[in-house]
Amino acid sequence: MNNQEIEKQELNELHWMMDMLTNVDVGLIVLDSAYCIKMWNRFMEDHSGKSDGEVKNNSIFEVFPEVPEAWFKHKIDSVFTLKSRAFSTWEQRPYLFKFKNYRPITSTEATMYQNATMIPIMSSDGEVNHVCLLIYDVTDVATSKKEQTRLNSQLEKLSRTDRLTGLFNRGYWEECFENEYERCKRYGNNSSVLIFDIDHFKNVNDTYGHQAGDEVIRQTSSLLLDMVRKTDVAGRYGGEEFVVFLPDTDSGKAKIFAERLRKKIEAITVTHDDKKIKFTISLGICQFNKDLPSHEKWIEQADQALYQSKEGGRNQTNIAS
Ligand code: GH3
Ligand code: MG
Ligand code: MG
Repeated sequence: MNNQEIEKQELNELHWMMDMLTNVDVGLIVLDSAYCIKMWNRFMEDHSGKSDGEVKNNSIFEVFPEVPEAWFKHKIDSVFTLKSRAFSTWEQRPYLFKFKNYRPITSTEATMYQNATMIPIMSSDGEVNHVCLLIYDVTDVATSKKEQTRLNSQLEKLSRTDRLTGLFNRGYWEECFENEYERCKRYGNNSSVLIFDIDHFKNVNDTYGHQAGDEVIRQTSSLLLDMVRKTDVAGRYGGEEFVVFLPDTDSGKAKIFAERLRKKIEAITVTHDDKKIKFTISLGICQFNKDLPSHEKWIEQADQALYQSKEGGRNQTNIAS
């Protein structure tokens, strides 16, 4: 190749390079040290609706009032002084420029999520007088990550919830109860555990059918949920057995709670297929004490008190002695 041909080749390559930078699906902005826009590419034109010529020499904060000035200046200044890159991710800051999300089919987000990279541009004398800002559209990534997080928390909730009643299931309730036991042991709290069981529930199933039985369980649970405080933890322990732990509540106060619950249950009538069903519950309470060797033993004592209530004629509350 002669010199002319080499020059032509180089010019071609430069032209290709410029064409690629113009059309690449990434935002490119060159800023000077006064945060003025010196040029930008088509991605920025398309999403902002402003041409390169229109914004040239304007401060980025005038063109995009949404850019947080102090934060942005701090980032850009560090690129100038350290002569090294800086980054911003959508997790820290969802976007730098408020662009519409133009992929509404794959994503429900209204705004484009962005990652940004700030690169120092070295001039021939080794000085950094300009910074190149790269803007990546990461809406798809952000949307799927957010969806995954939402699904995970939904799954987590499902895995600890009893399907029929919406109460905590036995596994999760026991986990919380064990923590409460450890807390009481360490701090000497007066917490109590309450266990209760529907009386003659077999009769309900036998007389009115299994679905009527389910409805009785459901309404018992919803009444229980209405009564507990935020700090109390209620769960379904088995078929028609329920548990609640009442933090910082001694057995006397727990009994007041238990009796209120017992009377409310006694007063309600469950209607199923036009049949009116009345029922009662028996309850057992055990307050924490330092001699309890495990959380299992703690609940076992409450269960013994429940057994006394059954033996004593049902529809009553007993405290473990
Ligand atoms: P007691 O007063 O001694 O508690 O008498 P009970 O009839 O309630 O006796 P028990 O606790 O042994 O009977 C529980 C019955 O609950 C047995 C089982 O068929 C029924 N059961 C367990 N889980 C469910 C459920 O999810 N739905 C319905 N409908 N019945 C259930
Ligand atoms: Mg029962
Ligand atoms: Mg039972």
